[in-house]
Amino acid sequence: MRPFEYASPTTEAEAVDALNDHDGQTMVLAGGTDLLSLLQRDAVQTQRVVDIKKIDTLKSIEQVDDGVLIGATVTLDEALESPLLAGHDSLAQVIDGHRAIQIQSSGTLVGDLCQMPQCWYFRNGFGVLGRKDGESLAELGDNRYHAVFGNSGPAKFVCASRFAPSMVAWGAKVRVIGPGPEDEQFVPLEYFFVTPRLESQGVNVLKPGQLVTHIWLPTVADVKSGAYEVLESKGLDRPQAAAAVCLQTEGDFVRDARIVMGHVAPTPWIAHEAARALVGQRLDEDMAGNIGDIAVSKATPLSMNEYKVAMARAAVKRSLLRAVGKLDDALV
Ligand SMILES: Cc1cc2nc3c(=O)[nH]c(=O)nc-3n(C[C@H](O)[C@H](O)[C@H](O)COP(=O)(O)OP(=O)(O)OC[C@H]3O[C@@H](n4cnc5c(N)ncnc54)[C@H](O)[C@@H]3O)c2cc1C
Repeated sequence: MRPFEYASPTTEAEAVDALNDHDGQTMVLAGGTDLLSLLQRDAVQTQRVVDIKKIDTLKSIEQVDDGVLIGATVTLDEALESPLLAGHDSLAQVIDGHRAIQIQSSGTLVGDLCQMPQCWYFRNGFGVLGRKDGESLAELGDNRYHAVFGNSGPAKFVCASRFAPSMVAWGAKVRVIGPGPEDEQFVPLEYFFVTPRLESQGVNVLKPGQLVTHIWLPTVADVKSGAYEVLESKGLDRPQAAAAVCLQTEGDFVRDARIVMGHVAPTPWIAHEAARALVGQRLDEDMAGNIGDIAVSKATPLSMNEYKVAMARAAVKRSLLRAVGKLDDALV
């Protein structure tokens, strides 16, 4: 591992200050479950790691007027235990899917949103675009885990975040501070992720000297939510495809819908057309399957990953049925 400085600020202002040194060649450390392995592999380089775990304002989950604020060092287990998130079923379902006490007790929700791609070309030092001698390795080589949507440009990786689909479906925002001492903005999560055309663009909108301090989740009455991840193993695993939905219903009929797929594109992939088609319909197993068909109808698989399209369809269908409590009875 290359040497780097370590900073452990105790306030948000100190964190911004510490991130701004070295021309912003610095990185945030939360639970460290992903960042440390990236540094060990030399997949990322940094002059300084800024550990945010000692900042009190980032440690809690709080009720605010129109929602819930989740601090950047709140772990997956703390989120699962919080009564303030009890109504957000899809989040609990994704935490449950991790099946790894180490990740659940140390990993943070914000760290999950900000994590770099799992793409094996990136992890082996070829950058987020996975290029060698000007050629896309994912295009020429093994692309079985790569994108089936949003892959017409140079980025072929899939967004690694497991919570992004459910958070985007909920309409979450992230509070971003820096690089200036007074700079603060709430960014809708659906605009947080980036499909880079250039290596320097990164995978989200964060610029050097910025960090996410909180996730804001709206509390909306009468919303039914569900998530479904297609996993290969019963243990520690990453989804091949996933989906999360938020629905407003009247009896068996859907009044409003948000459907977001995960692990299929460089960003969470919102299925607008499928959601529109569901409004006004009775949600049963056949309808859920039809909506799954619509959600994947414009997929553009690469040479080795057509199988992911069927998985994404199944994830949409099952997350819809899960949201309305019909998954266990379904034939799927
Ligand atoms: C053995 C092992 C297995 C794993 N298995 C899985 C798995 O099966 N599925 C899965 O989804 N994940 C897995 N992970 C990945 C990881 O544990 C999770 O994504 C976790 O939620 C990341 O949270 P963290 O707090 O540890 O993030 P960190 O590792 O601290 O940070 C992750 C990234 O986010 C950035 N970051 C963190 N916080 C902020 C912030 N506040 N503002 C700006 N940037 C920030 C960091 O700079 C870094 O790039 C695994 C990790 C390990 C070590």
